[in-house]
Amino acid sequence: MKVPVFKDLEKIEFQEKPTPRIGPGEVLLEVKWCGICGSDVHGYLNGILVPPGTVMGHECAGVIADVGEDVHEFKVGDRVVPKPLAQCGECYWCKKGQYSLCPDGLGKAFGISPEHDGAFAQYLRVEYPKEMLFKLPEGVSFEEGALVEPLATSLHAVRMSRLGVGDNVVILGAGMIGLGVLQFVRLGGARKIIVIELSERKRAIAMETGADIVINPLDEGEALRERIFEMTGGIGADVVFECAGVPSTFQACASLVKSGGQVILVGINDKEVSINPFFLVLWEVELKGVLGYYDEFGLVIDFLRRKKINTEVLISDRISLESLVEKGFHRLLSSQDSVKILVNP
Ligand SMILES: [Zn+2]
Ligand SMILES: [Zn+2]
Repeated sequence: MKVPVFKDLEKIEFQEKPTPRIGPGEVLLEVKWCGICGSDVHGYLNGILVPPGTVMGHECAGVIADVGEDVHEFKVGDRVVPKPLAQCGECYWCKKGQYSLCPDGLGKAFGISPEHDGAFAQYLRVEYPKEMLFKLPEGVSFEEGALVEPLATSLHAVRMSRLGVGDNVVILGAGMIGLGVLQFVRLGGARKIIVIELSERKRAIAMETGADIVINPLDEGEALRERIFEMTGGIGADVVFECAGVPSTFQACASLVKSGGQVILVGINDKEVSINPFFLVLWEVELKGVLGYYDEFGLVIDFLRRKKINTEVLISDRISLESLVEKGFHRLLSSQDSVKILVNP
């Protein structure tokens, strides 16, 4: 099979590789769809989290093509979604169910290191099927299956927040993660949902998926805080979700939340940001980072089975593996309008 190998910044080379061999306890997955994650694009552009030699792709769904010895939970033909972060099951965090904090998780993950090839390929070797594989029920498509991973991140962010029924919410950034957060806070009983997003296309999708108000931050400029306070009875948002991962939105967060409110940081931002701690103290604002997911995969699959999530609007395009760079990475880098691009290997 021909797979895209990340060679260097902005350089991906297609190489011929044999179909992965599986050992005892392992599973071979035929990949049906794999989404391009913001972190793949980040890696392609900046090399963050992705060393040279990596085959990327971690948001996929497929069908089991082969099972190794001692695999009893799964059989050939099962439709499944793999959770890319495996956990050890024994460390301090795993015992508390905080799987994304397992120090072993990232090392075992596929699609982010040369040791474990990712799902931008026809076949994926799943080394820890018991921890990693989730069955897809009838009525949930492979395309929806490929959205489970990012949706699990969104759901985790909402579950880690102090959102209560009737709370006003601000979401910064209406990409895949922000639009997932939006749908889950709607299910969670949010009162007014305000989405701040630069792209007109994404603002339209936010309206379609349950936002009450969408704002183009460029229209508001310095008056953004005033607008948000106006819309929330002069109080500010109960919970702010930062889903854009850029320094300016990070800085805006603390000024949009109410005194005593909470800011959830979901977007990945590795740039230095200066923040004046005085305001956090003065307004008793809580800043909380969240990463990945604990046990949300099964919950997301159940929400999809019950048709509680609008997935169709989240899929901006479906492309072939050969066009991964041109129609995938380049498009995501040149335009703000795409949400999720799915790749069919
Ligand atoms: Zn991802
Ligand atoms: Zn662990």
